[in-house]
Amino acid sequence: MHNKTLSELSEMLHKGEITSVELTRHFLDRIKTHNTELNAFISVCEESALAQAAAADEQLKNKTAGKLTGIPMAHKDIFCTKGVRTSCASKMLDSFVAPYDATVVEKIAASGMVMLGKTNMDEFAMGSSNETSYYGPVKNPWDTDRVPGGSSGGSAAAVAARLAPIATGTDTGGSIRQPSSLCNLTGLKPTYGRISRYGMIAFASSLDQAGPMAANAEDAALLMNAMSGFDERDSTSVEREVPDYTATLNDSLEGLRIGLPKEYFGEGLDPQVAATIETAIKEFEKLGATIKEISLPNTHLAVPTYYVVAPAECSSNLSRMDGVRFGHRAENPKDLQDLYQRSRSEGFGAEVKRRIMIGTYVLSAGYYDAYYLKAQQCRRLISDEFQQAFNEVDVIMGPTAPTTAFKLGEKTNDPVAMYLADIYTISTNLAGLPGMSIPAGFAEGLPTGLQIIGNYFDEGRLLNIAHRYQQVTDWHKQVPKAFA
Ligand code: GLN
Repeated sequence: MHNKTLSELSEMLHKGEITSVELTRHFLDRIKTHNTELNAFISVCEESALAQAAAADEQLKNKTAGKLTGIPMAHKDIFCTKGVRTSCASKMLDSFVAPYDATVVEKIAASGMVMLGKTNMDEFAMGSSNETSYYGPVKNPWDTDRVPGGSSGGSAAAVAARLAPIATGTDTGGSIRQPSSLCNLTGLKPTYGRISRYGMIAFASSLDQAGPMAANAEDAALLMNAMSGFDERDSTSVEREVPDYTATLNDSLEGLRIGLPKEYFGEGLDPQVAATIETAIKEFEKLGATIKEISLPNTHLAVPTYYVVAPAECSSNLSRMDGVRFGHRAENPKDLQDLYQRSRSEGFGAEVKRRIMIGTYVLSAGYYDAYYLKAQQCRRLISDEFQQAFNEVDVIMGPTAPTTAFKLGEKTNDPVAMYLADIYTISTNLAGLPGMSIPAGFAEGLPTGLQIIGNYFDEGRLLNIAHRYQQVTDWHKQVPKAFA
């Protein structure tokens, strides 16, 4: 049952072959059995999930149910959920119970889905391995000695081990796509502004975007339908109609122009990962696409630019976590200064502190022009370069990550090595473009991911390309043996 697609589950629910309560119990049981090992969930919401499932069953009975009604899902613990702890995997928010739902949570609940719980992540979404969580690392279901990727590592592990049929993630520099790649999932980071950020705890506001982490492209399209759209509570959400993302899944790929940036296939890319990507590209040629080598010469600027912009924005966003307005409060403060200082020292982990310090530094009066302003200029160069490429090609393809899942602890003492895990994903966030990762094969038993980057609001196209590929391959159907 846990290996069925959302459409299959929906059909079973609508035909009355199973109830939502039964389905929800099934996944809650799987979480009970496997979560101790994987640590994918921070909070499991058994009682409220069963209540939501019972309400869904009523709707199914009355014939007022929609396509997603009664299907369980999980939210990354970065989305505010009314009455449920929203920790962002930080000690800072360990006891924070959100007083309202994020728009994404509200919309998905309105579609009738059942929330199983909140998934583990890197603290405040800062990381590429899910090892910075206050609640401990998440294990990769493909090899529990390895990381699931990050920051949406809990969502990735939960869906990969089929503890939830689908989950939400957020992507500031790769956090949906990189864990999707490391765990064999289909993950989509939409265009900046496609999905409301209201109630999604801000890391770097000009880069953050929510999206689906799914077993396949059709499931991702269904969740995109539920999540997307304008929200007047988020001034950066775009007022633009939401297409039915499932309507174009089967469109032909005849004549599709694919660009392969030579910078994405250079030094640092694991040769075995490269081989799976090359095989995947051949599959697209068979489907009628044409391939063209392109160049994105400023790719090398993406990581340094991001590590100025993202810390700058996070240092500002996290200033509200001061033990007064939000967050952990130190005991017995001597005075106000001591209260702020100790609350923040005790509440934040090492990586978050590192980012706040870098961010404060690059924004300081004496260094602003040298770092922050320069980074904004580089950011513009990176987006312009993509627009030039899109004059010649429809989509850009390459690897999602330079390697398969690495060992737990392997990069924890080397922040720069960790930052390079996002070398292929970060540019899309800087440019605000949509990007997707889909299962592309295995290297020594570990999943690899193909990244597809599109122009603004081309999510439908990306899902279509992914779906057609998944009609002729079955990488996305592979499940780790221990969780099959
Ligand atoms: N790994 C990147 C970082 O640490 C991206 C994280 C993300 O996308 N949230 O900032």
